Amino acid sequence: MSPAPQGVSLRGVEKRFGNVTAVAAVDLDVRPGELMVLVGPSGCGKSTLLRLIAGLEEASAGEVWIGGRHVDDVAPGDRDVAMVFQSYALYPHMTVARNLGFGLRVRGAGRDEITARVGEVATVLGLTELLSRRPGQLSGGQRQRVALGRAMVRDPGVFLFDEPLSNLDAGLRLRTRDEIAALHQRLGTTMVFVTHDQVEALSLGQRVAVMDRGRLQQVGTPHEIYRIPANLFVAGFVGSPPINRLRLARDRDERGGRLRAARDAGASGHGGQGRLAGGPFRFAGKWPFDEATLGVRPEDLAVAVPGASRADFEATIVRVEALGSEQRLHLDGPADAAWVARAPPAMRVTSGDAVGVSVAWERTHLFGPDGGRLGAAPSPIRPLRAS
Ligand code: ATP
Repeated sequence: MSPAPQGVSLRGVEKRFGNVTAVAAVDLDVRPGELMVLVGPSGCGKSTLLRLIAGLEEASAGEVWIGGRHVDDVAPGDRDVAMVFQSYALYPHMTVARNLGFGLRVRGAGRDEITARVGEVATVLGLTELLSRRPGQLSGGQRQRVALGRAMVRDPGVFLFDEPLSNLDAGLRLRTRDEIAALHQRLGTTMVFVTHDQVEALSLGQRVAVMDRGRLQQVGTPHEIYRIPANLFVAGFVGSPPINRLRLARDRDERGGRLRAARDAGASGHGGQGRLAGGPFRFAGKWPFDEATLGVRPEDLAVAVPGASRADFEATIVRVEALGSEQRLHLDGPADAAWVARAPPAMRVTSGDAVGVSVAWERTHLFGPDGGRLGAAPSPIRPLRAS
């Protein structure tokens, strides 16, 4: 029933609105049959990028290719793509069946063909019972499915989704997300899905493209994006609670193994980590950078009672968030750094407790002054007092 899936390639694509550059120098390949998620904060240009693929915007520079065809001069209706929007845009006076068949009807398809195709799509999406209702008689989730069905009826080579779940409540959002993933598995069609929600992006995407300020920051599998973030922006955008950051500078008085925490957290924004007062740290070996930011995911900090095992630093628990499946421990660490650690739900801790904190160093990240990832911390960094 479906045609061969089409790949999408963007080459040096740029979009300017007056003096606003919404999309800059984007090179991206979506493979045939792939589910690619574009994610980034509000205003980063992800909807514009999707609209450039759909042909709803014209690129200021660069090229858009779909299925090996250069489509910059091809009208949206002839690009073999179908777009599903955040607002369902269903015709309120038409039944579900007529809404589903509308696209085929305007293309001049015959009645039997329309009925057959609408029936097929309704079966796939579980809409058969609802075909004679009008949109006003449907729940939000059902309306979203009809909007999806309307795109499917045309058998496009590429589906484009612009935040299709953002009007749904939390439970329905999860279910619809699962439905889209299942549908992708069944149809094997290329899908490009835009969201600002990093959890949605990682859970849905086979690969994820992270954008910030019009530029692609990283394209990779959810695992790569989370475990090997290309830069501080990606590290801070993905993950909840956010990655812990400690900005480190080479101690002016010393060569090699001494560092100090820089006075401000610097690369703030997503981390929300505040106060760093600048205490000295010890580093085993020659410290290779003048300045770097250490990033540690909350699950890569292990908290234990002091003295239980060799800890990297000592800290005081300032707040415990008991979330049922885990606890989040807010810590006041050396150099007045605020850290968040994940702990098992049964661990008995309370605010005010002094604890030892161990770091999984091989899973840490060092970022250079420009924010780019340098690698894992080459060896433990400990506050000088603890040695
Ligand atoms: P959101 O998640 O809020 O929808 P987004 O990442 O999808 O954001 P875009 O809608 O692509 O972002 O917008 C990117 C930038 O381009 C923003 O600064 C926006 O204000 C600007 N922009 C988008 N469309 C237009 C337009 N038609 N005219 C002028 N500026 C625009």
